[in-house]
Amino acid sequence: MQSFSFYSPTKVIFGKGTELGTADEIKKFGGSRVLIVYGGGSVVKSGLLARIEQSLTGAGLAFTSLGGVKPNPRLFLAREGVQKGIEFGVNFVLAVGGGSVIDTAKGIAHGIANPGTDIWKFWLKEVEVTKSLPVGVVLTISAAGSETSDSAVLTDDETWTKRGLSTEFNRPKFVVMNPELTYTLPKYQIACGVVDIMMHTLDRYFTPDEGNAITDEIAEALLRVVIKNGRVAVENPTDYDAASELMWCGSLSHNGLTGLGAKKDFATHQLSHELSGRFDAAHGASLAALWGSWARYTYQEKPERFARFAKSVWGIATNDCKLAAQEAIDKTVAYFSSLGMPTSFSELGIGVQSEEVLQDLTDRCVFHGARTIGQFKVLNRSDVYEIYKLANH
Ligand code: NAP
Ligand code: FE
Repeated sequence: MQSFSFYSPTKVIFGKGTELGTADEIKKFGGSRVLIVYGGGSVVKSGLLARIEQSLTGAGLAFTSLGGVKPNPRLFLAREGVQKGIEFGVNFVLAVGGGSVIDTAKGIAHGIANPGTDIWKFWLKEVEVTKSLPVGVVLTISAAGSETSDSAVLTDDETWTKRGLSTEFNRPKFVVMNPELTYTLPKYQIACGVVDIMMHTLDRYFTPDEGNAITDEIAEALLRVVIKNGRVAVENPTDYDAASELMWCGSLSHNGLTGLGAKKDFATHQLSHELSGRFDAAHGASLAALWGSWARYTYQEKPERFARFAKSVWGIATNDCKLAAQEAIDKTVAYFSSLGMPTSFSELGIGVQSEEVLQDLTDRCVFHGARTIGQFKVLNRSDVYEIYKLANH
């Protein structure tokens, strides 16, 4: 077995009605003055925000709120939250929403704990995060896995640069998961979530290393469960069992469990960030638009890994590794399509891009030649360009 370190300290409170215990959890983690962060209005419309506020008031917790977080969350709003939090003397940040809200809350928590440091410096890796405030989450969408992950993604709205930051200080203290809270999601968002959950495991599973047996089995089981329940949830968003499986898989897929002991790839995520940053496209949809091109470009690096994926996840029995790999890629892409997800630039709704845009996406993705991406196959500038080109139809 390969060596690894695993740290997943987030307390998970799962089931119907669990959001009612939010205030108690905040208190257990030392919060008394709370900043509630939420998105563009779904939690206002559903009444969830009012229920959370009532529960905080009932528990004697002081709070203030910051709404308006957009998908592909913007740096400026996180900065605004830092200001607001400092003025109110906040000692706990509560995210009520999905990945965008949670990542904003993480940024705000870092900023309040480090007054005087502009938070973007953490994302640019110019300053290391050494302290933060505790963050709690009431989850409303199964997707990003930010509720248990060590990562946070923000977009600088001046340059439209989307960047991720990984640090143990990004791990929330607790997450409340009531699958019923996802019933109000549009089908498109459920499908985006299914793709993102799958991608957090696929971006770990396709590794140049020999994976640990148990890690590989967990990854494959998770993919099978997500594929099955993703279909059901998109068809019927109020199916409790399907919503439950997706919610728990979303967290397990990105807390590190499905890639222990092996190098992570994450090339598709990095390729997709340039699309989301430039065109403000939904995260899951951007991943779906690119994964097939990434897989077709890279599978020959280690076709036997794809053949294992073919057999374990899609039940493809072909002995020829290359054929099995190709069939598995086709099946995965067809599955994304069946959920209504795009598998190319034009299906993503951004149109076929000019040569100039492809070159610019490529330059941004490889930091103008300063980095390669991916580990399954290390991708240099020309590889990245070819993958964008493959998806550009
Ligand atoms: P999201 O961007 O937080 O939300 C997507 C949309 O779903 C929003 O319009 C939101 O509306 C709506 N929504 C959420 N819950 C809803 C509900 N219960 N009912 C109705 N509508 C609801 O989605 P996400 O996919 O979770 O997060 C995506 C972001 O996370 C991206 O920026 C991505 O890059 C990032 N990400 C982060 C990590 C990480 O580990 N930190 C990992 C992967 C991705 P409202 O705004 O009105 O609520
Ligand atoms: Fe993601």
